[in-house]
Amino acid sequence: MRQLSKPKISASSTVGVSRTGGQRSWDSSANELEDLKDSFRAWALTSQNHRCAFCLAKIGHVLARRGIDIDHFAPKETYPRWTFETMNWIVACSSCNQHFKSRYDPVVPTSKNIKNSIYYSTEFTLVHPYLDKLDNHLCGGFMNDNRRPTPIQTLDDKGRETVRLFDLASPDLLSEWKNDYRRNKFDRLPPILQYIYDRILDSL
Ligand SMILES: [Zn+2]
Repeated sequence: MRQLSKPKISASSTVGVSRTGGQRSWDSSANELEDLKDSFRAWALTSQNHRCAFCLAKIGHVLARRGIDIDHFAPKETYPRWTFETMNWIVACSSCNQHFKSRYDPVVPTSKNIKNSIYYSTEFTLVHPYLDKLDNHLCGGFMNDNRRPTPIQTLDDKGRETVRLFDLASPDLLSEWKNDYRRNKFDRLPPILQYIYDRILDSL
């Protein structure tokens, strides 16, 4: 997981839907809604360097093996009022969205939170990639494409719950990050060094 900048795209200014969407359904095939989702995905992929917001797997990239989803951080089935709140939209891989998170409800179940309609002041059990300061909850991991990945560490309950839910401490994920890091390094080598490296590998 990495710190993400807040989306500047809003559903109300773009397609004129209120944050609750009124009668509009998320799966509506209305052109303006499809366009909004497309621009949001495009913005997020650039801002996230083509990585899932949660597990950092490559998405929307030639090497990607996973689909791209727009996850509703607070699930739209439980909180329809935030269906079209773009702060609640997190671009993630289909595995994190559908398998790990699924319909998990991250809203802390206090009566204030349940009734609250103000997204910014809602308390969540998971680290929110736009609203939380990541350094307060997690350290290590794959913090930067140019830094060698290390095992992720948790600093508080929110960090622990996030790592548990998405299985971010899994050794398989760490090796995926390390392979990704090495591939990035290799891609930046001059062609002659790439050639030599390939020849060495072929001779083993
Ligand atoms: Zn993911």
